[in-house]
Amino acid sequence: MNQTKILSLLLPGSNLQAVKAGWSSNLPTYQGIYRDYRVILEPGNNTGGHPVGIFRVTINASLTDENMIPALDQFLTNLAAEQKKMVVSVRRHRHAVVLELKATPTKKYIENTVNPITDQVIRYLEANRIPTGCQSCGDQDAPLESYTVNHDSHYLCHDCAVKTEQELKESQVETKKKTSNLFLGLIGAFLGGSWAISRRSAVR
Ligand SMILES: [Zn+2]
Repeated sequence: MNQTKILSLLLPGSNLQAVKAGWSSNLPTYQGIYRDYRVILEPGNNTGGHPVGIFRVTINASLTDENMIPALDQFLTNLAAEQKKMVVSVRRHRHAVVLELKATPTKKYIENTVNPITDQVIRYLEANRIPTGCQSCGDQDAPLESYTVNHDSHYLCHDCAVKTEQELKESQVETKKKTSNLFLGLIGAFLGGSWAISRRSAVR
């Protein structure tokens, strides 16, 4: 399937764009807004990040109200159990929900798996008035742009992008001792390996 076809099938009503991955991959990822939520959809590839056969969906959800967390975790646990044939993993970060779904970007798979499962999560967030914002700090007002940090994609505000880049640089210089204090509230996947952060650009 070509990118235009995939984009027309993914989350109807969204304004998703195909963007170049920040590493050497031929596959773009898809990013944009669906029902007012920032979403990034990344098909797996063999050059970094998650493998082929896994489709990762990152939904920015600002959990500034900690009282929302137990019920959300329960909802996600139930979802993973109900959809266990299609859901590989569900992770709830401080300000994001990350779903890893089984299979490749085909019409059937997008319509039967990616769209309904993503939609179900976003409708839960909506119903519980959990807003979307920066994936690192949860800010709901700052403009967001998508960045690849190591092999993963994140919608971040400018301040968090600058801070992340700085922390990644520092972690390379002063390994171990320093890393335990880094990334508090940020994403564990930022740690380890070589660092790279880059802003994404649209596929022509
Ligand atoms: Zn931020």
